[in-house]
Amino acid sequence: MNYPQDFRADESWALAQDAADPLCTFRSEFHIPRHGDEEQVYLCGNSLGLQPRATRQALLDELDDWQSLAVEAHFRGRHPWMPYHSFVRDHLAELVGAQPGEVVAMNSLSANLHLMMVSFYRPTAERHAILVEKRAFPSDRYAVESQIRFHGFDPATALIELEADEPNGTISDAALARAIEEHGNRIALVLWPGVQYLTGQVFDLKGITALAHRKGCVVGFDLAHAVGNVPVDLHDSGCDFAVWCHYKYVNSGPGAVAGCFVHERHARTDRPRFAGWWGHDQSLRFRMEPEFIPTPGADGWQLSNPPILALAPVRVSLEIFHRAGMGRLRDKSKAMTAGLAHLIEREVDNVLDILTPSEPGRRGSQLSLRVKGDRNAGRSLFDHLAAQGIIGDWREPNVIRVAPTALYNRYMDAVRFVRAVKDWSQR
Ligand SMILES: *Cc1c(COP(=O)(O)O)cnc(C)c1O
Repeated sequence: MNYPQDFRADESWALAQDAADPLCTFRSEFHIPRHGDEEQVYLCGNSLGLQPRATRQALLDELDDWQSLAVEAHFRGRHPWMPYHSFVRDHLAELVGAQPGEVVAMNSLSANLHLMMVSFYRPTAERHAILVEKRAFPSDRYAVESQIRFHGFDPATALIELEADEPNGTISDAALARAIEEHGNRIALVLWPGVQYLTGQVFDLKGITALAHRKGCVVGFDLAHAVGNVPVDLHDSGCDFAVWCHYKYVNSGPGAVAGCFVHERHARTDRPRFAGWWGHDQSLRFRMEPEFIPTPGADGWQLSNPPILALAPVRVSLEIFHRAGMGRLRDKSKAMTAGLAHLIEREVDNVLDILTPSEPGRRGSQLSLRVKGDRNAGRSLFDHLAAQGIIGDWREPNVIRVAPTALYNRYMDAVRFVRAVKDWSQR
């Protein structure tokens, strides 16, 4: 696809680009929140993706089946509830570059992270450390710390936090490689993000896995900000497990059922796990026998029968990704993010510094923007944008994150954002 390189800050240019965008029809599949007579400039899909128009009907279908079929909807519903989680499996596997048996939609991200650590964080006296980044998402930090304590170790020595070594708070591949080399013999688990939520930095999953495996460490990824944003090849990366959520770039609604990946080589593992009846061998599940026999693959970590009303939006959203194709979305995303970065540098360099790496391969959709001046200046700009219907998000003390997402954002959104920043600076 030929996306533009000569970015201009005027609306007629943006309109022409949007009209020529081969993915432009996907925007009409989403509800774009309104701001007065206009549509919002919604740049917050990294935090909560917009609602696909098809989601409402999918939920109504389930309510109708429950109303008219009740228990029989498990087998006779339009989308029978019994095998429901398998209706999302193929598209989910496609989205994260996995084999179908390696993925499952279940629970929430933090719950899945704990379930995965039960099986894949098996500390010993010699090897019990967990390597994370210093500014890991709080939930991940709480989870690893509590797991360390649960096993009777002390986070003060068992939690290794790698500090950012680059000026804008990003971490170089070399620094990560050095940490793994230096501490590898005592690291039980490397838990790393696919995309860092504060800086938007993209990491090389395959490279990290290779380094860590060479040292005998288990590797898990938190892909909350990666899935639906950048292509990931989980199977090929060789990592042991991964977890992510579906309400950010995957547009499946607040608290949507999350995702989990377990590499094929662990499909029949005898590692310990926390078990529930939905993880039991599916052909034998309803014999209701006392001995737990896990279903091979990621399905074997399921605990409960799935929340159908929370899974229906995931099914709808993944079908949209399937039609759009992650490769095509990435091409558009690269062009839009480059365009936005370019306009920011050219038009409002006096207001904003871009913290996110400038190399296209080291970032996804998101740009993290540090507002020059004090915190008040930052809040004033953020409030000014919100009053214009331009929605990003605020991270203390002075960072605004914006993410033009390929499914529903337009060049016009980038142009309107930059224009509003400029208006604010000239107020
Ligand atoms: C969004 C996010 C979470 C959120 O966890 P939930 O269990 O879905 O509430 C956790 N970790 C990271 C890295 C995130 O970006």
